[in-house]
Amino acid sequence: MKLYGKDKLTERLAEFAESGRFPHAILFSGDKGTGKSVMAKYTAKLFLCEKKGGIPCDMCAACHKAEKNIHPDLIDVLSEMPREKYAVTELRKLLAEGIIKPNDGDVKVYVFREAETMNDTCQNALLKFIEEPSDFNRFVFTADSVGAILPTILSRVVTIPMPPCGEKECRAALIDSGIPQSKADELVAGFGANIGKCLDAYGNETEMQVVEIVKAISQGLAEKNEFKTAAAFARLSNRDLQQKALPLLLKVFRDGMVYTAGLDSFDSPCREQAVMLARSVPLKRLDLGAREIQTFIERQSLNPNVQLACAVYASRLCELIL
Ligand SMILES: [Zn+2]
Repeated sequence: MKLYGKDKLTERLAEFAESGRFPHAILFSGDKGTGKSVMAKYTAKLFLCEKKGGIPCDMCAACHKAEKNIHPDLIDVLSEMPREKYAVTELRKLLAEGIIKPNDGDVKVYVFREAETMNDTCQNALLKFIEEPSDFNRFVFTADSVGAILPTILSRVVTIPMPPCGEKECRAALIDSGIPQSKADELVAGFGANIGKCLDAYGNETEMQVVEIVKAISQGLAEKNEFKTAAAFARLSNRDLQQKALPLLLKVFRDGMVYTAGLDSFDSPCREQAVMLARSVPLKRLDLGAREIQTFIERQSLNPNVQLACAVYASRLCELIL
């Protein structure tokens, strides 16, 4: 099982396993796209693997079944719920089966993805289950943030924050998943070293298109080129594109202002263009531009004609910036 940028994490799990102190409940916490589900699968395999080493062998029948999500003792709880949302009645029913012995091996692994989406009633039902688990039950949780998880649950699990992934590992992961190198470079430059976010963006044509157009608008403004700016705005040919592009453009302006203030922190994927804007447009004008974009966003639903609105936006911004 190939993992990217998770060496420290797998070493820690191997130490747990080899020392015989493997916690019976582990929670992986971290942003979307940081590989929590992959780590949950890895840990489940570690529990189920017939070789019982520090890493899953990926050769035995248990590893194969876990990989294909057909292991009878690997329970992905969320996918058993109606419409993939935690519901207390179904959850109680499923947890009641926790007393039944494993089918294949010596443990049963319950995976609770997106644990932060469980309401308190569900979490309390779960609490009873993990407080007094049968000897053979193991639990793996994933959560974007632990803020919504009851302290009583947190006190019974070992929480492991997802480590940041390096750009090199992220690029390697994208290329290994079949994305051409030049596109992988573009994605990492645009969306940062977050494998999940990059893959999502690659699979989402509109999102890529919006980023490209916003980059072109920002570049046009930074180069003080009215024609280029207007031409880029004109590519926002429908309301959906426009609704996605304007907030992103606002982020680029704000990133530019933050950069001018001497900080190297970017909220938008158009880092390069934000720096260009910051270098060519005075802070006061960037601020005026940002306010104007905010007004566009607030009023965009009132515009009956998308194309006309784009022409107006382009000319208003050029007036303020150039
Ligand atoms: Zn194995």
